[in-house]
Amino acid sequence: MRRLFGTNGVRFILGKTMSISDILRLGLAIGTFFKGKKCLMGRDVRLTGEAVASAISSGLMSTGCTVYDVGLITTPALQYLVRRLGFDFGVMITASHNPPEFNGVKVMDSDGVEIPREKEVVIEDIYFRNKFEYANWDKVGDYKVLQGVLDYYIEGVLEHAKIDEITERRFTVVVDPANSVPVFTTPEVLKRLNCRVMTINANLDGDFPGREPEPRPDTLRELAEAVKTAGADLGVGHDGDGDRAIFVDEEGTVHWGDRTGALIVKFFMEEHPGEKIVTPVSTSKVVEDVVKKHGGEVVYTRVGSINVSRKMMEIGAKLGLEENGGIFYGPHHPVRDGTMATVLILNIMAKTGEELSKLLSTLPRYHQFKLKVPCPEELKEPVLKRLREEVKGVKVETIDGVKVWYSDGSWVLMRPSGTEPIYRIYGEAPDEDRARELSRKHEELLRRIVEEVKEEVKEVK
Ligand code: MG
Repeated sequence: MRRLFGTNGVRFILGKTMSISDILRLGLAIGTFFKGKKCLMGRDVRLTGEAVASAISSGLMSTGCTVYDVGLITTPALQYLVRRLGFDFGVMITASHNPPEFNGVKVMDSDGVEIPREKEVVIEDIYFRNKFEYANWDKVGDYKVLQGVLDYYIEGVLEHAKIDEITERRFTVVVDPANSVPVFTTPEVLKRLNCRVMTINANLDGDFPGREPEPRPDTLRELAEAVKTAGADLGVGHDGDGDRAIFVDEEGTVHWGDRTGALIVKFFMEEHPGEKIVTPVSTSKVVEDVVKKHGGEVVYTRVGSINVSRKMMEIGAKLGLEENGGIFYGPHHPVRDGTMATVLILNIMAKTGEELSKLLSTLPRYHQFKLKVPCPEELKEPVLKRLREEVKGVKVETIDGVKVWYSDGSWVLMRPSGTEPIYRIYGEAPDEDRARELSRKHEELLRRIVEEVKEEVKEVK
């Protein structure tokens, strides 16, 4: 079965991995699936955004759908507006954190959450078999430009802010919106909370001149410097479509999403003991430590934001997180939202009166060590089968790849990448050497298994 959708929608390089006529066909397939309904469409700052938006909307209209184009917007704002304004579905044109040459298409259901895998399969089938249902000439859909709706989203986020406490503190916050659409949301929300807002990389530019659109400690060095220079209380770095937020404390230290996520979890659990928290299997044990301390339960999912969103809805969980800086706050919307995450961090800083570095220092500390092992696409399954047979620990989980737990609380996860011909290895332990040793040991094991499976396949041939 050929695939079109990856972990987060369809991703492509226009003119290289997908042509503009392929994008038109994708629009036709999505439109055929939704049968002449109302679509809210938006895009991030990418250079191919307008061309892709035109092709997608042509496909949607030709199948009878009406397109409301909201233009440049973050993914979480578009998702919120789909539900809030009662659209039948949404299309977001973005490649999120990928390099500038990429673009992509995410499809949302009427609840504003990315469509589940079963619906993606139907759209893929329509696409690959050209089963498009064209509208008659007098039933072709309209194209409307929609303006002035972002305020609904800004107000929706502010509903969950401790407005008086934050306003009183007059925080200084430096925002790095990655030269993209988060510039429309986070600075505005912070301004309304009486923060002194400063920005870097806030000029819209699809070349992403400031930094790579993926927020990581190594791409946020300038933000960290700016936080120190400005004497700011907080720095926040978003990805290209604003659904992720990575935070910098007042000392200029950049923190991974599972630590700041664990802090959000900790304060949430203090107010809601016993709740379930949803997160992928690759998340640090720090989250489980915090959740267990408050009598709650961690529900693990496969890696990918859609799995977290859908699991939260399925079990009625109110909070989810990802190590890459994705925070899913159910009372607002069960999708990851970098602007909402920023407000949740400020809520904690305002409530406690503590600096972020101090708040984070109270969490248990773990070290992760990540590696990659090349593995051809067609060998991923047989390799996984062998891995399951060979690994041993106090507990083995097979939700996504193979995760092995050891008695000292350390663990290793080996999972096939959904986008590249590799296996990813994540090792985590209370000390750095142990994490490295664990990852290296399993790298060796994985390389051996890949070689053996290659030989076996050759013999069969
Ligand atoms: Mg993103």
